[in-house]
Amino acid sequence: MFFVALYYQKVAMRKIQMVDLQTQYEFIKPQVDAGMQEVLSSAQFINGPAVKTFQANLEKYLGVKHVIPCANGTDALQISMMGLGLTPGDEVITADFTFAATVEVIALLGLTPVMVDVLPDTFNIDPAAIEKAITPKTKAIVPVHLFGQAAAMDEIMEIAEKHNLFVIEDNAQGIGATFTSKNGTHTKTGGIGHVASTSFFPSKNLGCYGDGGAIFTNDDDLAHTLRGIVNHGMYKRYHHDVVGVNSRLDSLQAVVLNEKLRLLDFYNERRKWAAIRYTQLLEHHPKIQTPVTSGDCSSHVFHQYTLRILDADRDALVAYLQANQIPCGVYYPIPLHRQKAYVDSRYNEADFCVTNQLINEVISLPMHSELDEAQVLFICKTLLAFFD
Ligand SMILES: *Cc1c(COP(=O)(O)O)cnc(C)c1O
Repeated sequence: MFFVALYYQKVAMRKIQMVDLQTQYEFIKPQVDAGMQEVLSSAQFINGPAVKTFQANLEKYLGVKHVIPCANGTDALQISMMGLGLTPGDEVITADFTFAATVEVIALLGLTPVMVDVLPDTFNIDPAAIEKAITPKTKAIVPVHLFGQAAAMDEIMEIAEKHNLFVIEDNAQGIGATFTSKNGTHTKTGGIGHVASTSFFPSKNLGCYGDGGAIFTNDDDLAHTLRGIVNHGMYKRYHHDVVGVNSRLDSLQAVVLNEKLRLLDFYNERRKWAAIRYTQLLEHHPKIQTPVTSGDCSSHVFHQYTLRILDADRDALVAYLQANQIPCGVYYPIPLHRQKAYVDSRYNEADFCVTNQLINEVISLPMHSELDEAQVLFICKTLLAFFD
């Protein structure tokens, strides 16, 4: 069975990858190459026309007033917090189950990260846990739209309003997702909180061919502040009014992003198709819990397709899939509150029941816009055979 499967893969199927940026590039090569050539000829590498076009295109796509491009998603988070005027000692509440960038910048700015537990179905920050963690020092909440699914933004915005807190959406994994509020309004993630950040790291849903990021806000004053911070705190040439940083998106990356933004909804639909096929093929197995999504998945753009493996050895499954040439990932294997850099006596293990369980159960399958039926079938067939 194993060798038959390998032979099948060789003659009929592209190599299975976590993300397949080579195949994706083949389809947009003429446009990307021509745009890059134009940048090379014009030599406007920084703040060239492609960056301004991309900024305007993304504002229109997201329906936000201001997009401020910057160098990467981690900078975008840091600059957002600087722009809000958070100062050392302020507490910022975020999810325990996410990529470390989120807490890293909180700590770097001398703010106090406060990690809280997540929900077992969506893996997103638990609003009840946020409320419980609020103190007089709390200034902001950073919900992460983890794996591409919108966090519980209605509840989070209500808590923020009640306690007068800022909400910074970490939209690095959620770009293109639409959040439907209880009152029926549809908003793209990144346009709900006071400010939002995203990343254009190559493997993200909207990725460039290097590093890139952006900040979004509907607040004119904050946008002005942020535009100065990304540029050394300059609002007038060589007048430095605030402490800033140097964080820019370059023109070559903007060329790629302009081309891929046109296709973002298509890419996300392809991801949703793959997610629906995975779920159809896997959901009946008693040891597999497929992702929980609402309705038509409009709130989920499947940056990752992440299963929970119940009552079985997840690590053995990882090794088995890898031995069968199926890449997979464990996002994330260690909760942030237990990372050496962020341990704090304030934390009580009993408050992290969900995260502590998820780290042993989650496994993310290959997910990208180029997955095809043969690949998904092969992955599911192989995966199910593990339990035989
Ligand atoms: C990727 C990512 C970031 C950081 O983005 P970079 O561009 O790599 O700096 C931040 N938060 C989350 C949730 C991410 O997935």
